[in-house]
Amino acid sequence: MTPFNKPYLTGREAPNIAEALAARKLSGDGPFTKRCQAMLEGLLGSGRTFLTTSCTDALEAAALLCEIEPGDEVIVPSYTFVSTANAFALRGAIIRFADSYANHPNMDPASVAALIGPQTKAIVPVHYAGVACDMDALAELAEHNSAQIVEDAAQGIASSYKGRPLGTLGDYGAFSFHETKNIIAGEGGALHVNRADRVRQAEIVREKGTDRSAFFRGEVDKYGWVSLGSSYLPSEMIAAFLLAQLEDIDAIQARRLAAWYRYAAILEPLAQEGAIELPTIPAYATNNAHMFFLLCPDLETRTALLEHLKADGIYAAFHYQALRSSPFFADQAGPDTPHADRFSHTLVRLPLFAELGEDEAERIAHSVVHFFKR
Ligand SMILES: *Cc1c(COP(=O)(O)O)cnc(C)c1O
Repeated sequence: MTPFNKPYLTGREAPNIAEALAARKLSGDGPFTKRCQAMLEGLLGSGRTFLTTSCTDALEAAALLCEIEPGDEVIVPSYTFVSTANAFALRGAIIRFADSYANHPNMDPASVAALIGPQTKAIVPVHYAGVACDMDALAELAEHNSAQIVEDAAQGIASSYKGRPLGTLGDYGAFSFHETKNIIAGEGGALHVNRADRVRQAEIVREKGTDRSAFFRGEVDKYGWVSLGSSYLPSEMIAAFLLAQLEDIDAIQARRLAAWYRYAAILEPLAQEGAIELPTIPAYATNNAHMFFLLCPDLETRTALLEHLKADGIYAAFHYQALRSSPFFADQAGPDTPHADRFSHTLVRLPLFAELGEDEAERIAHSVVHFFKR
């Protein structure tokens, strides 16, 4: 069977972890953490980056940094992972679900415009499949309404909007290094802070609400509880693993992109004929080959396609249930999100991982073609 995902190992992970163990510095913010943060800051070009235990935690830290209070409204896409909304719901926010574009899961600024107002404290765009949202349009809406922007860039490493890296376009950006992402640490994430005036507070939030970081820099002579916060630091073993991956990012990306473009070349004629839809990448966005997805005409076709692929030894996958229709939220107020619902029912993700290889991508794509030509 070809799995849907296979975590990629560079070979440097275990030696790095052994080095961390030998150094007997195991908790957070040691040398491996600092090296990862410096590499990420190099990739992102501006702002400060802090490793976190997950993207979920980076989003929760961002919600604290936005000073969300009960009753504040936060706009998130309906078609996303639970954490995008849950991080703000934990702070008592009223979640407002924006719909996707008709032809792409990304949040449509027109839908955001219909929900935003003085009660809106934050907008949380998700760069689905690593393809940028229309950040200029969202930034204009945010500015008009004094709302902050938290980018859920969980899937967005090594991708950009008008030449600027994803995660650096809002006030805060959240990345994931979960084993299903391009660059992995098992579980892990990063919080990127673009506002110089919030770096100090980010350190406090990440260090259990204490000014411990300032203490270790010698800026205060004792440290204590100064704010709300939590424990978001990954251990040095996680950072040691992650460093190996970050050092190989170009090779990992090259392999993923090669498989992605092989899929696209073989499936494009099927899209031309109208049998499936393929996503288009807007001129302002880049493709980081986080995901290859296609849209089936309806749910029945999708179910049959997934079965057909399984019979051919291929594990493909659908994706999110639109959060607007989730059991936790369904009976709350707010407009429906029909485009998000359509993606819930018709979207298929094909296997994509660094070790997949172009030949296997070709076999999988031909299996899809065969299904539609029967
Ligand atoms: C993976 C993902 C998350 C969660 O990341 P974790 O690191 O597992 O917490 C959040 N949002 C989106 C859009 C994701 O794809």
